[in-house]
Amino acid sequence: MAQKFQNYINGVWCDSSNGQTFENRNPANWDDVIGTFPLSTTDDVERAANSAAEAYRSWRLVPAPTRGDICRRAGDIMVRRKDEIAAIMTREMGKTLTETRGDVQEGIDTAFYCATEGRRLFGINTPSELPNKLNLSFRVPIGVCGLITPWNFPMAIPTWNIFPGLVAGNTFIFKPAEDTPHTANILVEILIEAGLPKGVLNIVHGAGEVVGTAITIHPHVRAVSFTGSTKTGEIVAQTCGKNTKHVCLEMGGKNAQIVMPDADIDLALHGILWGAFGTTGQRCTATSRLILHQDIHDAFIEQLIIKAKALKLGDGSAEGIEVGPIINRKQRDNIERLVTIGKKEGAVCVLGGEKAEYGDLKKGWFYKPTIFTGVLPNSTISQEEIFGPVLSVIKCNSLQNAIEITNSVKYGLSSSIYTRDINAALVAVRDIEVGISYINAPTIGAEAHMPFGGVKATGNGHREGGWTVFDFYTEWKAVYIDYSGRLQRAQIDN
Ligand code: ADP
Repeated sequence: MAQKFQNYINGVWCDSSNGQTFENRNPANWDDVIGTFPLSTTDDVERAANSAAEAYRSWRLVPAPTRGDICRRAGDIMVRRKDEIAAIMTREMGKTLTETRGDVQEGIDTAFYCATEGRRLFGINTPSELPNKLNLSFRVPIGVCGLITPWNFPMAIPTWNIFPGLVAGNTFIFKPAEDTPHTANILVEILIEAGLPKGVLNIVHGAGEVVGTAITIHPHVRAVSFTGSTKTGEIVAQTCGKNTKHVCLEMGGKNAQIVMPDADIDLALHGILWGAFGTTGQRCTATSRLILHQDIHDAFIEQLIIKAKALKLGDGSAEGIEVGPIINRKQRDNIERLVTIGKKEGAVCVLGGEKAEYGDLKKGWFYKPTIFTGVLPNSTISQEEIFGPVLSVIKCNSLQNAIEITNSVKYGLSSSIYTRDINAALVAVRDIEVGISYINAPTIGAEAHMPFGGVKATGNGHREGGWTVFDFYTEWKAVYIDYSGRLQRAQIDN
């Protein structure tokens, strides 16, 4: 009998209002049913919104350092439960235990970072243009926030939002991805144990079109943070725009690693293996294009094929596995579709290019690490996000050419260049249109206390992570204190 999980609304674990559920299964073994979760309705969102609005009345008045203490306690609990959470996450998401431990660690880092931010949240003071007058400005919370998250970082992405949002004084309705609801419930459990008052964090499981839509249109919700596909992000943006809500969007990427002839080739090889095939390529920062200088192209590809072929595919919970399954059938079908297009468009598939369906791998949604060479910069597999272990190799003939190719996509999340030439590296940092730029490191590896996000079609100008996330989760209040004892008119009396 599958375990039954629930929503958490107004401090109570509860079923969906109509009693319906959906199943959560293991992508490495589809017969393994993890449990059932509420297939919630708009009524459930209504109750969660009312609960978050009511809780906001008192939560906003709790001193920020005290709100930060709750994050610190949550971090302590996550440290204690790290291995347990990693195992739960691997079972529902598929990535290896090494990676799910890293995902939990990112949550821990964010917890401790936000705990200290509760004692900063700096305001800004400026001189007044009038005598005997004090000008202050400080951050204030927004109110009820909606959080809609994807499945690839089931702990990291929710914590990037929830911890800073809570420290800033907001309350939440959290709708996690249907593929990774268990990790999301664990995060709620942790915050309950850490002492979060009822109603401050509400979790409502269910379909994006129902629960997600209800969150984006609910009048109590003042801000929505969304991470996911570009297609859905555009819908969320439109709905939020029409309903005058703040919205933070983190969407697709088509990230490139450039390798110049003077690079440490071995380092660049390790970088591309991790960037392209880590998390089975299912990161928004995954490397999906390798831009190789023509002088090293053939020798590099030869080595890359040998190394990528040796990657061990399998259930992420097993020892020694390097590449886990694809999250679900729909996602694997999409990878297959794009690989077929790549072959039709004339790129040469030098590795993989098919599902991995042998032995135990038949039980899950596995796809072989795939490399295409001879890929044209404007072809479909160079332009569209694939979100799988598929790497398109594009030849370049100069730094300028490499930068132009890197910039020739609609996205702008992460980039990497391998070179020993400091001038070339800095030109790349200056000219590549992305939010995150790496030198001699792969396109993945963001740290919790740095700004995270992209330019162009990747986002809408906001950043998660670090101090910049507080720009989304707070508003500024300007305060003028006139101690002159007389009427002073700005722009007129000075
Ligand atoms: P993916 O294709 O990777 O599942 P999505 O962008 O569809 O990416 O999903 C990301 C999150 O957005 C999930 O939590 C999903 O349930 C939610 N979602 C899907 N459709 C909508 C929608 N129309 N409005 C709001 N949220 C949605």
